[in-house]
Amino acid sequence: MEPLVFEKSVSGRIAARLPDCDVPHVDAGDLLGSGSVRETLDLPEMSELDVVRHFTRLSHRNYAIDLGFYPLGSCTMKYNPKVHEMLARLDGFTDVHPLQPEETAQGALTVIHAMERILAEIAGMEAACLQPAAGAHGELVSLMMVRQYHRSRGDTDRNVILVADSAHGTNPASAARCGFSVRSVPSNDRGLTDLGALRSMLDGSVAALMLTNPNTLGLFESDVQEICRLIHEAGGLMYCDGANMNAIVGVARPGDMGFDVMHFNLHKTFSTPHGGGGPGCGAIAVGRELEPFLPVPRIADRGDGQLHLEYGRPHTIGRAHSFYGAFLVAVRAYAYIRSLGAAGLRQVAETAVLNANYVRARLRGHYEIPHDRTCMHEVVISASRQKSRHGVRALDISKRLMDYGFHPPTNYFPLVVPEALMIEPTETESRETLDAFCDALIAIARECETEPDLVRSAPHTTVVSRLDETAAVKQLNVRWTPPEQETSV
Ligand SMILES: *Cc1c(COP(=O)(O)O)cnc(C)c1O
Repeated sequence: MEPLVFEKSVSGRIAARLPDCDVPHVDAGDLLGSGSVRETLDLPEMSELDVVRHFTRLSHRNYAIDLGFYPLGSCTMKYNPKVHEMLARLDGFTDVHPLQPEETAQGALTVIHAMERILAEIAGMEAACLQPAAGAHGELVSLMMVRQYHRSRGDTDRNVILVADSAHGTNPASAARCGFSVRSVPSNDRGLTDLGALRSMLDGSVAALMLTNPNTLGLFESDVQEICRLIHEAGGLMYCDGANMNAIVGVARPGDMGFDVMHFNLHKTFSTPHGGGGPGCGAIAVGRELEPFLPVPRIADRGDGQLHLEYGRPHTIGRAHSFYGAFLVAVRAYAYIRSLGAAGLRQVAETAVLNANYVRARLRGHYEIPHDRTCMHEVVISASRQKSRHGVRALDISKRLMDYGFHPPTNYFPLVVPEALMIEPTETESRETLDAFCDALIAIARECETEPDLVRSAPHTTVVSRLDETAAVKQLNVRWTPPEQETSV
């Protein structure tokens, strides 16, 4: 692939010629203060056609779900039908203003209210709230409610959140951010919560246990009801990290398993494209005990034919988001759920699970599969064999997959599996795509034996090869600066 040239400016070249200004001249310095106005502005000078080609070419260098398979585990990068985008772009939805009087925004309130009812039903819980902006935010808001719940009962010494050792990093982070101490519950050799260890950790300091079900090994926590019983007996609450709802939506309900509160990732399970930072929605659902603590405003149906925004709730933890959350994400999710219906949602989960098991069965024998039994929506394989025999790591295999045209799976997560490659095919991929992906991974396993250097030095077909990923995260700088004034503000 030819390298991208970023410096294309040619002095004097312009893309558009504006007519002379015919309104009275106002000096920008008078309006803004002279310190805020630059004397010169070194923008690139280019023709319109060059600009169009530059950005179109750049866009082709991106990988996207619209271009190919995205098997990123724990992320549910599925294809989201374009019709939901069209619906979310309808003027009636995009033009509604958050400060509009509620009687003029009844359509928008109806969508949010209906989504709350639907999500509560899918959760098997009492009520839902769409304010949290992401899964991690849903965790934080829920834990704030957990804290309020215990305080409201005069139970003020519960300062510990138990978190499974296979949990997503956001779980302990949210608990710590909320002021709790975090204690990690180990998994047993079947990849499930170790009940014996859990029992030994239970005392009057436990505020809640955060559990992902199915867990991040792609395994259903079959003891979940017993776990809920133990935690409740100890006076704690059960939090369900619902990021993996794609595996059970329409089939099993966290509320029925005994969970008290959960978050959904509408941007994973319910048709909002994600990656790149949002907007998203980490809607939460709660059982009866936690309902009074939900963020305000609540949308209330007082039976007068109108929906109302309700702020005066004495036990609320307050606001969790400006206005009412990422409304258009709710519109997409609503369109998705209504177009699939209950039977369609169930089919989503069943097909997602079938696809993951198909991948597992095809890769068996080529990679080590630490928990090689029926999985849920994702399968965790390990490159430990390739590492010990040929010195090729999971990261190398992921890089080599890019040469085959695939986005890599999740690497080195969950932490409890060495050299983990976590694959979530989702329900939207065809048999042909899954086969092409498995064929590539099998071919790479063979390359590890015959040409390990080829894999270790991959990718070979991309514009840039290996980046300093730590620096890219810690010192992210995506701002273009003219070469002659790198230090400008
Ligand atoms: C994605 C994910 C989260 C966090 O959700 P965000 O929307 O990214 O904040 C939490 N837990 C699990 C298991 C996840 O996969």
